[in-house]
Amino acid sequence: MDDIELLSEYYAFLQEKKGEGKKVVAFMSHDNIPEELIDAAGFVPLRMIFAGNDELMDASHDFLSPSTCAFAQSCIGVFSVKPNMYKFLDLIDYFILSNHCVSDICASEVITKYFNIKRLNFYVSYTKTENSLKYFKIEVLDLKKQLEEIKGTEIGVQELKNSIRKYNEFKKKLMEISNTIKSGSQKLKIIQKAMLFGPDILPELDSTILKQSEIQVSDKIKDILLTGCSIFINDYLLDLIEEGGGNVVFFDTWVGFNYYYQIIDENVLNSTKDPIDILTHRFEKNFYGDHSVPNFLQRKVSHIDTFSKDYEKKTGKKIGVINHIIKFCDHMSIMSSHLKNKLKVKGIYVLNLERDYSRANRGQLSTRIEAFLEMM
Ligand code: SF4
Repeated sequence: MDDIELLSEYYAFLQEKKGEGKKVVAFMSHDNIPEELIDAAGFVPLRMIFAGNDELMDASHDFLSPSTCAFAQSCIGVFSVKPNMYKFLDLIDYFILSNHCVSDICASEVITKYFNIKRLNFYVSYTKTENSLKYFKIEVLDLKKQLEEIKGTEIGVQELKNSIRKYNEFKKKLMEISNTIKSGSQKLKIIQKAMLFGPDILPELDSTILKQSEIQVSDKIKDILLTGCSIFINDYLLDLIEEGGGNVVFFDTWVGFNYYYQIIDENVLNSTKDPIDILTHRFEKNFYGDHSVPNFLQRKVSHIDTFSKDYEKKTGKKIGVINHIIKFCDHMSIMSSHLKNKLKVKGIYVLNLERDYSRANRGQLSTRIEAFLEMM
């Protein structure tokens, strides 16, 4: 299924949900948004996980400076240009503004203000102290209140617990898929589709595993761990890696491991009575999300190092790391040279690949990727 087909299937899916009277609540924020609350309210969470192009980025310059990250520019661009393949965005009722980063705040403000979409707010602390956990809980309760006002009734404790369980099972399935399927492009397509449609496609995921786990990848291919910014729907980056002779075996990104590793332990689910506490516990344990400043670099280095050693032990092959930096993404660019140096000391090669969504860059990106794979 190509991306145009996927988005048209998604349009039909959302139309069906709207036909059932459900509201669509979109957000750009990369993690920490408690999508279970949206689900428990009976609404549909819509993640903005779409890549851009020149036209979309240019369109955003009417609202924000070109030094805003290319992903945020493109998010504005899809609302401004309204390409046909994104017509499902007309079905959005609410947009959550959150503070994952400055670009996220600015783009969400522009989208809600200039494209007439009602705004909800959800702010997340950058630290993980006792007080920041209290603050997170207050924010979750506030978002719950905002959703209840739209719904007209309370979100029940059991409703929320059911949603938390549902998303937990969904993440377990994605983890299973990630460990089963060998081809990077197959894996990414499944993760992207799953994160777009949500747990509704759990039955489809089961049959997907059966059909696609058999795909084998040649031993001559260079194995890659992709970290940094996510590869979104409609991006060509993975094609360049595969055309150059690489295969991404691990997506250490928000559309990938950073999302589905956040599985809540059964003991916590069974022993914690208040579902808001369960969501707060998950925020506390979200060690790899780039929103959380303390120890982010150390954790990333140690995580990649451990993965690399385990992978070599299991397969006899070394991995290379591509650190994907969407242009003007401060979260990723600010520590890219430190990440590269620290991993180099551990014998792991890193390519810091900074780019925007411009088509003109394709040739240059391809040359850099090929050179890196050859060097490996
Ligand atoms: S890509 Fe980076 S700068 Fe852009 S919205 Fe995401 S975290 Fe923020």
